[in-house]
Amino acid sequence: MPLSAPSLPHPLKYLPMKLSRAFTLVLVLLLAASSHPARAAALTREQRDAMTPDAIIAVMKEGNARFRRGERKERNFLAEQQASAQGQYPAAVILSCMDSRAPAETIMDLGIGDTFNTRVAGNVVNDDIIGSIEYGCAVAGAKVVLVLGHTACGAIKGAIDQVKLGSLTGLLDKVQPAIAATHYDGEHSSKNYAYVNAVGRKNVELAVAEIRKRSAVLRELEAAGKIKLVGAVYNLETAEIEFLP
Ligand SMILES: [Zn+2]
Repeated sequence: MPLSAPSLPHPLKYLPMKLSRAFTLVLVLLLAASSHPARAAALTREQRDAMTPDAIIAVMKEGNARFRRGERKERNFLAEQQASAQGQYPAAVILSCMDSRAPAETIMDLGIGDTFNTRVAGNVVNDDIIGSIEYGCAVAGAKVVLVLGHTACGAIKGAIDQVKLGSLTGLLDKVQPAIAATHYDGEHSSKNYAYVNAVGRKNVELAVAEIRKRSAVLRELEAAGKIKLVGAVYNLETAEIEFLP
């Protein structure tokens, strides 16, 4: 009796093809996971503690590179939220501007539980912000302090123009040292894009120095190599974050 394919029991007949399709699917998923690792849960203490400050900065740079390519890591924000509800182990504290176009987690493709964020116009430093950063590093274990300014910052322009408006006046006063310290050959005007950015960059440098100067807690952690303080400027047009030397 010839054994023809139709005489095979039904499930067996299709099994080889199903197996091969399933294998291909698994392979594709594995490959996808290796190039864009999906992270269902938030950063754990073990994962965070295993990273050096430089490794955390590298993750931020890679995330910004993905953002610039129009890509993002597969992630489940709800799962990250639920996983971190009972405890958070952020890797960094970010001080950035309130500007709507410079949301730190988004432009570095980071998730829930990854970073502490303090946002204030002009990313200026004050005692409450330094206290927040001290909490983030000395109590909660973050290893990087990133001061993130950006191009075409309205707070920098306002400070250049010496805007006076309610409590904003006092905030903009905190940018004046950066204006005084900026060496720029050319028009010193809020209309001059390059000048505004030069002041913005200096403002980041001075903020990093100010945090270091005013916080013995952070100075000691940095001297012990446990944390790193770094400045960066986000370019609104290119979407690139330039980390300052
Ligand atoms: Zn700004």
